[in-house]
Parts: sequence; C-alpha cells; structure tokens
Amino acid sequence: MIPLLRLDRQMAALAPDLEPRVAAILASGMFVQGKECEGFEAEFGAYLGGAHVAALGNGTTALELGLEALGIGRGDEVIVQANTFIATAAAVVRLGGTVRFVDCDPSTLQIDADAAIAAIGPKTRAVIVAHLFGGVGEVDRIVAAARPRGVFVVEDAAQAHGSRLDGKMAGTFGDLATYSFYPGKNLGAIGEAGAVASGDAQLIEKVAMLRNHGGIHKYEHQVVGTNGRMDELQAAALRVKLPHLEDWNRRRREIAAAYDRAFAAVPGIAPMAVPDRVVHTYHQYVVTVDDRDALQRLCAERGVGCGIHYPLAVPDTPAFQGTASGQWPQATRLAGHTLSLPMFPEMTDDEVKHVADVVCEGVAAVHAS
Ligand SMILES: *Cc1c(COP(=O)(O)O)cnc(C)c1O
Repeated sequence: MIPLLRLDRQMAALAPDLEPRVAAILASGMFVQGKECEGFEAEFGAYLGGAHVAALGNGTTALELGLEALGIGRGDEVIVQANTFIATAAAVVRLGGTVRFVDCDPSTLQIDADAAIAAIGPKTRAVIVAHLFGGVGEVDRIVAAARPRGVFVVEDAAQAHGSRLDGKMAGTFGDLATYSFYPGKNLGAIGEAGAVASGDAQLIEKVAMLRNHGGIHKYEHQVVGTNGRMDELQAAALRVKLPHLEDWNRRRREIAAAYDRAFAAVPGIAPMAVPDRVVHTYHQYVVTVDDRDALQRLCAERGVGCGIHYPLAVPDTPAFQGTASGQWPQATRLAGHTLSLPMFPEMTDDEVKHVADVVCEGVAAVHAS
C-alpha cells in the first residue's frame, strides 16, 4: 500500500534530534511564549530572505489575523480564486467581508491573474493569491496592478514553503503572506501551527498583538484580539525540520520529474504545467484526467492511495453556494477531473515507479472501457 502521504518515515529519521528538544520543553514546564517560538520566527524569517514573522496557532488563524491587521473587515471585498482550500475564502467572510471569486488557469491550476486584475473594482480592498500545490501564481503581475490602486495583495503560502518565482521566495511579493504548518504541509509541525510573514515590521507587530489578546505583554490590551499563539512544542519541531526543507523539496521535484517522464507519452493524463520562472515544491502532484473517479478506484484497488484537491470549487460548496459572486467555470470543471498522486520526500524510487505504472495502466484501462 502506498498512501497519498505518510509522515512516519520522516518522524523516525528526525527522532534523535526532536526527542531531546521535546524532553527539554517538558522538563522546563514552559509550553507557550518561550524561546522556541521566538527562535522559529527569526529562523523562518531568515529563510524567507529577511522577513518579519509572527508564529501562530494555525494557517486559518494566520489568514484571519493577517487580513485583520491590514484593516479588512465589514463591507470590504476581497478577490479569491475559486479552486483554493476553503480557509482562504472563509477568513474574509468571518471578518465581515465579501468574496469575489475568480477562476484558475486550467494548466498551472494557479489563480488566473488576468481575471484577478480585471475583477479589481471600487470596493476591492485586497486580492489573495493562494499558491496552490507548491506552485506559484503570477503574484508579481497582480501586485503591479493592485498596488497603484491601493489594493493589498495577500499570499496564502500554506502550500508553498520554499517555492520560488524568478528566484524569489513565494510569500515575499505581496503585503503579507500566511503559512500553515499543518503536519502534512511541506514544512509541518507535530500538531497545529501557522504564521504570518511580511517585510513590514509594523504589520507583524499588529498580528503579534492580535494573537495575544491585543497586547504584546500580559494584561496590556491595546486592541481586541484573540488567542492565536503557536506553542513551544510546535516551534521546536519546526526548528528541527526547517534545515531539511530545501532537501525535501528537491526530492519532491525529483519524484515529480519521474512522474512527468512516465506520463509524457500517455494520452488522457495531463500533469499540471510549471512555467519556467517557477521553482515548484510539489506539495501535491496533481494530474487532470477524463474519468477521475474510475482512475482513483482502480488505483485504490491496487494499493495506490490518491487524493482530490478539492472535490468542489469553494463557491460551489454548501457554505458559499447561492451567495458567491464572480465566475469560475474552470474551477468547477477541474474539481471533477483532478487527482493528486502519492507525494512525500521519503518515497523510494521503487515506490515512485510502482505508482507511475499503476496510474499508466489505470489510464489505459479507463480509456479502453
Ligand atoms: C492548509 C491550508 C490552509 C489552512 O491552514 P490550517 O493550518 O489547516 O488552518 C489555508 N490555505 C491553504 C491553501 C491551505 O492549504
């Protein structure tokens, strides 16, 4: 059985480094607001090329507090792509704003930058570019169009730790970027964790206040905030893992290249396209096929676990249906045709070959029937 994702191999390899760190936290009794979070903020900021970072409880909180720090709230319109994870759009609604959905590019699966730029109107306060599956959307073009009009650009980089556009880190183009360190992400914690990063120190100070009941120091409440803090165990795990991220992402690209080669001459299966200017980190390896459900079934019967990202476009979910505005025909169509194949850096070459063989045979069988 080869699942979509397994974490146990990575955790076993890291145990000698991680366990003493965890033991030290247990012994200290300092579980929140200690040195590990501060250390992680500095190290992740340096990794991004000199960003300021606020460590948070998860990626959803990062979206909510990041947007709130920009002043986005009631009556504000935010442009979001329809094919993202629901958290990207839900954060806007939970702050009292409204979402205008735009479509995705059907080959790269990233935000349709032309559609996003065309959708900017008088009520638009921000565009959120979710860099999906390890790819990078054309955030530079969106920033160039948005900034002169006073429109913020937020990068949801929950799936793009270490991805690059023209050699520059995803998450460093817009006004701020949000990260998730959910265990399955390319950089994952041992529980829930997230962060906001920005070149603007004041913005990060605001997020740091919002995550701590509105103040940097205990019982000093400058604004109405919440509890959005990361705990020390998560920060320690992330500090152990961060030095490996580049190697892991490189291995993901190697696996993706092997898949690409295997599928190149196979009709009926199209891997997502990667523009030359993008260094992809393959959080997911997504293919588009005609009969997705049949292929997924055939793979499962042969012990290859695939995933669907995502089964419905966000505006087509019950949470948004009927109230969503915008246009997203490609996102609706692709939700029925995309399949994510097993992808994690610890896959062996034999496992990669086995998955590719099973998928090729599955595509041929579906075509023949
Ligand atoms: C994972 C993810 C989130 C949410 O992060 P959590 O840490 O699970 O709250 C937001 N946006 C995208 C694109 C994600 O993949």
